[in-house]
Amino acid sequence: MKHLELLRQPLGFFPTPLHELAGLSKALGGPQLFIKRDDLTGLALGGNKTRKLEYIVGAALAEGADTLITAGAIQSNHCRQTAAAAAKMGLDCHLVLGGTDPGIATGNLLLDRLLGAKVHWAGENRKGEDIPRIARQLQAEGRKPFVVPYGGSNELGATGFVEALRELGEQADMMRLDFDHIVFASSSGGTHAGLMVGRKLLKKSCRLTGIAIDKVGTAEKSLKEQVLDLAVSTARYLDVDHGFDAADIDLNEDYTGDGYAVIGAAEREAITLTARYEGILLDPVYTGRAMAGLLGLIRKGAFAKHEKVLFWHTGGSPALFAYADKLQC
Ligand SMILES: *Cc1c(COP(=O)(O)O)cnc(C)c1O
Repeated sequence: MKHLELLRQPLGFFPTPLHELAGLSKALGGPQLFIKRDDLTGLALGGNKTRKLEYIVGAALAEGADTLITAGAIQSNHCRQTAAAAAKMGLDCHLVLGGTDPGIATGNLLLDRLLGAKVHWAGENRKGEDIPRIARQLQAEGRKPFVVPYGGSNELGATGFVEALRELGEQADMMRLDFDHIVFASSSGGTHAGLMVGRKLLKKSCRLTGIAIDKVGTAEKSLKEQVLDLAVSTARYLDVDHGFDAADIDLNEDYTGDGYAVIGAAEREAITLTARYEGILLDPVYTGRAMAGLLGLIRKGAFAKHEKVLFWHTGGSPALFAYADKLQC
């Protein structure tokens, strides 16, 4: 196996906290809930992309890049963390965002601007279709751009979550905990794929349930196919056993509601319950929906009362402010 520390450019503060959700567990009448706080990775308000960027930016620096380019939705947490990583490492950052300039920037977009990123508006092309053109233009100007994939989901990004599962395993051992299930938001597949490879390396049997956030994967592939391909290629990249098949992937697509970033009653309930029983802020697009999925599964009786279930908080709370109108209560 490759030596992970050699590839890694430190950007965040790890390990992130792991703790029990006693208030929420009690309010729901079980199972025993825990949370992994990747909302506290420390890079400009944190989130799961910090883990991916440590490996991606490590590769960019090794290549001598002077500019990062990536893409996302207008309230992308990935873009905000990429902008912060670039600022920290003295690199320029170009963000290709879906939609049009709203004039007054709020939430993550406000932070992108404060962090000094250059924003390109891409209209309908919210998954980075315009990146090659912008990269060519930068090269023509003598720059050395490095393309950070959509959602940070390639082998390097997923490697961040292989390491994350090792980190969790160490914390769990110290706290004498053994999780039966891990539940998390799944959108571009890197978190899911990395956790799967990490689980195999640690020889753990805990169930990994991704809650799908978006109704569609990329144009060519379903999210499940993306997760499978990335798990295989990440394991290959790390020189470890890459025998995965579709049956290894637990992706729940029952909670996508009215589509990406459309906030409904289920997300509002999940956000307010977690805030009021735990004092923890979720986000409207990803973790609010993933927690709505976890609540749904609990109410359906998917877990036994004695089971230990970990919710992986993947960040995103800056977007709360951008969706204030949908969260009034
Ligand atoms: C990007 C993101 C996710 C999804 O992670 P993927 O690796 O893209 O599946 C979940 N939660 C938040 C807050 C995110 O920003």
